[in-house]
Amino acid sequence: MQAEEYNRRGKELVDYITEYLGSIRERKVIPDVKPGYMKELLPDSAPTEPEEWETIFKDIERVIMPGVVHWQSPHMHAYYPSLTSWPSMLGDMLADAINCIGFTWASSPACTELEMNVMDWLCKALGLPSFFLHHHPDSRGGGILQGTVSESTLVALLAARKDKILQLRAELDQDVDDSVLNSRLVAYASDQVSLTTSVTAFYQSNNIKLTVCGCAEEGLWLHVDAAYAGSAYFCPELRWSLEGIEYAHSFVFNPSKWMMVHFDCTAFWVKDKYKLQQTFSVDPVYLRHENSQAATDFMHWQIPLSRRFRSLKLWFVMRAFGLKNLQAHIRHVSGNDLTQELLRRLTRSGTMYLIPADLHTKRIIRFTVTSQFTTSDDILKDWGIISKMAANLLAEMSKVSDLSKQKIIF
Ligand SMILES: *Cc1c(COP(=O)(O)O)cnc(C)c1O
Repeated sequence: MQAEEYNRRGKELVDYITEYLGSIRERKVIPDVKPGYMKELLPDSAPTEPEEWETIFKDIERVIMPGVVHWQSPHMHAYYPSLTSWPSMLGDMLADAINCIGFTWASSPACTELEMNVMDWLCKALGLPSFFLHHHPDSRGGGILQGTVSESTLVALLAARKDKILQLRAELDQDVDDSVLNSRLVAYASDQVSLTTSVTAFYQSNNIKLTVCGCAEEGLWLHVDAAYAGSAYFCPELRWSLEGIEYAHSFVFNPSKWMMVHFDCTAFWVKDKYKLQQTFSVDPVYLRHENSQAATDFMHWQIPLSRRFRSLKLWFVMRAFGLKNLQAHIRHVSGNDLTQELLRRLTRSGTMYLIPADLHTKRIIRFTVTSQFTTSDDILKDWGIISKMAANLLAEMSKVSDLSKQKIIF
């Protein structure tokens, strides 16, 4: 009886999801709600008695949907893409069903092994160096799926710090406290850090080359964050900005942005896995297993102990699309006061969702294609609205002042 009910409810929700995604174009992309809107739609405390599933199910449309920004809408152009695909969704459904916690190899061998193999596939598909491969005779490195880029960057930073402290300790040959050594360490970051996401900046290849050569000479750990643009490397013609990657110690990107894999899925590679393990290794007896020496235990590569079975969705996506279609998918998307006012009007119209960014001193409006349902017709429709509103605004302004000479930059 219970199995039958699960089955029926599961199918019902899958139908709802199909209907939601199939008609998403008709939903208004930005919700029309104010902070706190939900309080009056919900009781003050959780129900003591179980509720009927029908009642709960109905509340998706009544309580949740009115406050949802439809990230999968073809009219969603804000922030960054969170593209999805059906193989990815099915991968997450299966992972949720299995719901193993894969901290060690022994805790669920398939979880660790699929991740290692799929990370090798991805490394090769992006044209990354072979020292990032798990399965390669000369490699000491490997890839792991983390929850976010921010977390991976912290992992790289902590590993680099540990490595340097051990190095300094060996050089000094005396018992100095870590905090003393720590105070001598410096981390350098690109001044484009806050721009990378806001304007999808790619480094000029000569810039990255200069930076990486400097790092190599000084013996610094070079961490490359390609969170947004990393998927572009499926296409060999877009690999120019990878020049110098052979000097990197770690590399990270989000398949959950452009590669149609559901959040969360962050691909992170290191050149020397032992440097991660010496930083994060915890070894309580209850986590040891008879294959501890031979196997990879990903808990030593990350901050949390627990980990989801994320590689299933990545595996499904790479197989269901094939590298050929992933490349085609990347190639398919080609694209101060007044600017702010235009943005305000566009937002108020509710027809599309855009956000601003600052490029040095210039305010710009970002237009991001974030849905796999987006067609060139959708973009043309939105572009038509933007152009018309911009023209109206300029006409209005030119009547009252000379402001029309200001540029609106996209
Ligand atoms: C999206 C993005 C981030 C943040 O990614 P999280 O996975 O949410 O931490 C960091 N850096 C760049 C370049 C990004 O595009």
